[in-house]
Amino acid sequence: MRNADIVIIGAGISGAVLTERYADSGKKVLIIEKRDHIAGNCYDYIDDNGILVSKYGAHLFHTNFEDVWQYVNRFNNWYPWEHKVIAQVDGQLVPIPVNITTVNKLFGLNITEEEEMQQWLEENRLPIDEPKDGREAALNKVGPVLYEKMFRHYTKKQWDKYPEELDASVLNRIPVRTNWDDRYFSDKYQALPVGGYTKLFEKILDHPNIEVVLNIDYFDICDQVEGYEKLFYTGPIDRFFGFKHSLQDRLEYRSINFVGETVDAEYFQENSVVNYPGQKNEFTQIIEYKHFGNQQTPKTTIVKEYTTDEGEPYYPVPNDKNQKIYEKYRKEAEKLTDVYFVGRLANYKYFNMDQAFKNALDLFSSLEKQEEELEMQ
Ligand code: UDP
Repeated sequence: MRNADIVIIGAGISGAVLTERYADSGKKVLIIEKRDHIAGNCYDYIDDNGILVSKYGAHLFHTNFEDVWQYVNRFNNWYPWEHKVIAQVDGQLVPIPVNITTVNKLFGLNITEEEEMQQWLEENRLPIDEPKDGREAALNKVGPVLYEKMFRHYTKKQWDKYPEELDASVLNRIPVRTNWDDRYFSDKYQALPVGGYTKLFEKILDHPNIEVVLNIDYFDICDQVEGYEKLFYTGPIDRFFGFKHSLQDRLEYRSINFVGETVDAEYFQENSVVNYPGQKNEFTQIIEYKHFGNQQTPKTTIVKEYTTDEGEPYYPVPNDKNQKIYEKYRKEAEKLTDVYFVGRLANYKYFNMDQAFKNALDLFSSLEKQEEELEMQ
C-alpha cells in the first residue's frame, strides 16, 4: 500500500464521497474496504436472470438537498423514479403510507374528499402532543386500529422490539396522507442511477489520486497505516474502540437476511416492494427488483427480507439505551485528533442516503475551511 495523505475506512457513501472530495483537492487518498466490492450497502449487480438487483436491499434515492442532488448528478445520469410500496393487510393490497385508498379499502369506505379523510383521521387517531416513543408516534398519526394492522408487528419483526421500545423518530419516518398520493417519499428529487449504484460509485472513485484496496479489514493492518494527515472511519464505532464500553450491554444493530429465489414467470407481484406487516409471515418485505427501471426479462427474481440480530450491522437501533452507550464512544472519538467518524455506523444514526451524502460533503467543507483559516494565521 502506498503512502497516502488521507485514509478512508469503508467504501460506502460517506467513504466514497470523502475520498472523491480529497482526491479532487489534490490529496492522495487510500480507501480500505473489508468487503470484495465498493458501494457499501448500495452495491448492486446483474444476477443470473439478467436483472439488476441490490445485494443489501433496495435503495431508493430521494432528497430535498440541492447540493446533494447536484453532486450525485456530476458522476452519473439518473432517471426519475417515484417509489411506491404496498402492504398486504387483511388479505388486501393497500398503499403505505396510509392514504385515502388505504382507508377506503380496509374499512369499506367511500371517502372522496380530502376533508372527509381529515375528519376520519381526527375521529380515529389518538392525538399526543409530544410522542415519546414509536408507539405514541404511530397512534398520534393513524390511531390504534391501523397501528395494530400496519405498524406494530412489522416493527417487532424489523427491530425485534415493539414500537414503544424505539424512539418516536423511527415511526415518524412514515407520513400519513389525507389525499391519494401513493408515493413513499415526498422529496423534490426522487431518482435512481442509470446502470445502478455500483456504476455510480465506480465513477465517484475514478481518479488518479485514489487507491482502492478491497478485501482488507482495517483492523488487521491498522498498525501499518500511519503517516496520514487525516483518517476517516465509517464502520461501527464500538468496533473501533474494541467494544470497551459495551462489554455487558452491547450497542445494538439490526441486520437483514436476504433470501432470494427465481420465479419462472414474467412477474411475481404487482409492485417492486410489498410489505407484510402481519404476524403470519416472518419476513417484512418481498422485493421484486425487475420493477425498478421496468427491466424486461422472461423470469423474475424475488427477495424476501428477514431482519435479524446476527450478521453485518445495517441499522443502528434508535432508543435511549443505545444512545447512552453510543455517547460514551462519541466522547472517546472526540478526543482523537485527525480521526473522524462519519456515516450511519460510525455516528450510530439512522441516516437516509441523501443525509449520508450531505454529511460527508459538509464535513469536507468544514474541514477545508478550518485548514484555510489555519493557513491564514
Ligand atoms: N413501518 C411499519 N410498517 C410498514 C413500514 C414501516 O411499521 O409497513 C415502521 C417500521 O418500524 C420501520 C419504520 O416504520 O422501521 C420506518 O420505515 P422505513 O420504510 O423508513 O424503513 P427502512 O426503509 O429504513 O427500512
